[in-house]
Amino acid sequence: MNVLEIKDLSKIYIGKINFTALNNINFNLEQGEFVAIMGPSGSGKSTFLNCISTIDTPTKGEININGKAPHKLNDDELAKFRRQELGFVFQDFNLVNTLTVEENIILPLTLDSVPEKTMKERLNKVTELLGISKLLKKRTFEISGGQAQRVAIARAIIHNPSILLADEPTGNLDSKAAKDVMKLFTTINQTLGTSILMVTHDAYVASFCKRVVFIKDGELYNEIHCGDSRVVF
Ligand code: ADP
Ligand code: ADP
Repeated sequence: MNVLEIKDLSKIYIGKINFTALNNINFNLEQGEFVAIMGPSGSGKSTFLNCISTIDTPTKGEININGKAPHKLNDDELAKFRRQELGFVFQDFNLVNTLTVEENIILPLTLDSVPEKTMKERLNKVTELLGISKLLKKRTFEISGGQAQRVAIARAIIHNPSILLADEPTGNLDSKAAKDVMKLFTTINQTLGTSILMVTHDAYVASFCKRVVFIKDGELYNEIHCGDSRVVF
């Protein structure tokens, strides 16, 4: 079953000179897959993710997430849809610096008025999975970049989204922290069954995925399947 289906997606930025950032993209993500989109800077990776996450509006084409077309929902439906179906992880963590680690993580649940008991259970589950239980009372400026990204990942999965979207999640991390984050993505994918779509320009990071799709000049032009026999160092 596909959690994400994209048909003939194009994005043209309109300006003095129109710019085609995405050109007729067709792409499916199966439930439980962990896929990397790889390509050089400016190839359209962020635009692609932003169209899926509804930050950007496609110029043409169809996007379906669990059978729903997010771009056809009204604002209220869309806000709810995004909170329930999608989790986001960014390069620069996007944590709220005035809040503690715990407050940052439960933020998506407070917005949806989830009962206190459920909130605590979810918090315990994800913080144990990500190895950040001891950081909960800390402020975001007291933790390292690698820890901040773990907190951001916890916030992205606390509501059990069907798809986790990650835009260069290791872009601000050293190689040791990047490796730790990719191991956590693998754990999330395998133990929670979350489908993950990640963009990166880093081949090492992409090597954690069984399927890697290549983008250049706004077009998906090839993909490789690494299978189970791959070695992850
Ligand atoms: P990547 O994430 O692969 O670096 P982007 O999706 O950010 O690529 O950008 C793809 C291309 O679209 C780039 O050439 C970029 O300059 C252009 N672009 C992105 N956003 C806009 C925008 N809002 N207006 C005009 N051009 C844009
Ligand atoms: P990334 O490489 O992480 O995608 P960028 O620096 O390419 O980040 O883009 C950051 C933001 O600037 C994005 O929201 C993108 O849409 C916007 N942007 C990128 N290129 C252009 C452009 N040529 N004109 C207007 N906005 C742009």
